[in-house]
Amino acid sequence: MPKIIPSLTKQGVEVVVEAGAGLGALIPDDAYVAAGASIGDPWSAEVVVKVAPPSDAEVAKLSDGQTLIGFLAPRNAENQIGALKAAGVQAFAVEAIPRISRAQVLDALSSQANVAGYKAVLLAASESTRFFPMLTTAAGTVKPATVLVLGVGVAGLQALATAKRLGGRTTGYDVRPEVADQVRSVGAQWLDLGIDAAGEGGYARELTDEEKAKQQQALEDAIKGFDVVITTALVPGRPAPRLVTAAAVEGMKPGSVIVDLAGETGGNCELTEPGQTVVKHEVTICSPLNLPATMPEHASELYSKNIAALLELMLVDGKLAPDFGDQVLADSCVTREVDA
Ligand code: NAD
Repeated sequence: MPKIIPSLTKQGVEVVVEAGAGLGALIPDDAYVAAGASIGDPWSAEVVVKVAPPSDAEVAKLSDGQTLIGFLAPRNAENQIGALKAAGVQAFAVEAIPRISRAQVLDALSSQANVAGYKAVLLAASESTRFFPMLTTAAGTVKPATVLVLGVGVAGLQALATAKRLGGRTTGYDVRPEVADQVRSVGAQWLDLGIDAAGEGGYARELTDEEKAKQQQALEDAIKGFDVVITTALVPGRPAPRLVTAAAVEGMKPGSVIVDLAGETGGNCELTEPGQTVVKHEVTICSPLNLPATMPEHASELYSKNIAALLELMLVDGKLAPDFGDQVLADSCVTREVDA
């Protein structure tokens, strides 16, 4: 975003933007130039900032001493991370920034998850055959939609809040019991299935086979009562947990909607087709990929603020000098050799 450029140039940083980089967010090259950047080839810069993980061809453009920052999928793109390491590139993966209070301003996972959670509800509302709010009209009273959110991290919490604002009757479920209070704080009910799978770093752990079976059965019973189910459950480095079985979909009322935000890692619903909207048992199942890209203005604005804050942490007198004594930089640098 052009907005952050003056704060960087003030610190002595020269900003080069690839031609057309902002077009997806309706930002013309001129806006970057007016903010103090130049348009050119960013691949020769000391620091290269991207959104999506680099392609193999992009990795090949980088060499010793350069720094790369972006979503680098460090748990899934092992070959690329290996290639970056071998080339002597210092790579910082925003996914690996620790979820600690001090790092909230840098937390790109959260900023993008907020966009996804919000947009998932709008998608559900537009696919639904029913209203979200209760309506009392001369033609009769319409009951509010019942909305269940499975997996209440950042995206799930935003989905609950957005569905509530639209007038839905909301319920949240997660395997981390600490989430119950957060769910209630956005006016939703907490669905308690008695499974505690809190893992490390605030993330969930994968369930045992026995817990999975118990969870699927309990959810199958619960899901029947909802008009809309939004799923966001993820376990770092693992395929998305299967929460909604085919039988659970079959049990839903015709016209109900499932929005599965876990499509990139296989989906939380057994009948999800990642990237597609399909109708199964008269239930619409949407699994949009990269939802933040559908709201490019605010997604870009938030991401650029995250990146500016990360760069600021690495700059000393306008020079790049990351201090790996800082947990945020140590954890997010995925190409550094760490002594055992
Ligand atoms: P995530 O995207 O990794 O997962 C989404 C949710 O799915 C999580 O709440 C997880 O518990 C849940 N989940 C996983 N397996 C499940 C299953 N089998 N059934 C039901 N739910 C399941 O999560 P996230 O949004 O990235 O948040 C991860 C953590 O980071 C949370 O504890 C969040 O509060 C924390 N966080 C902290 C900060 C901060 O303090 N700086 C900022 C953002 C997030």
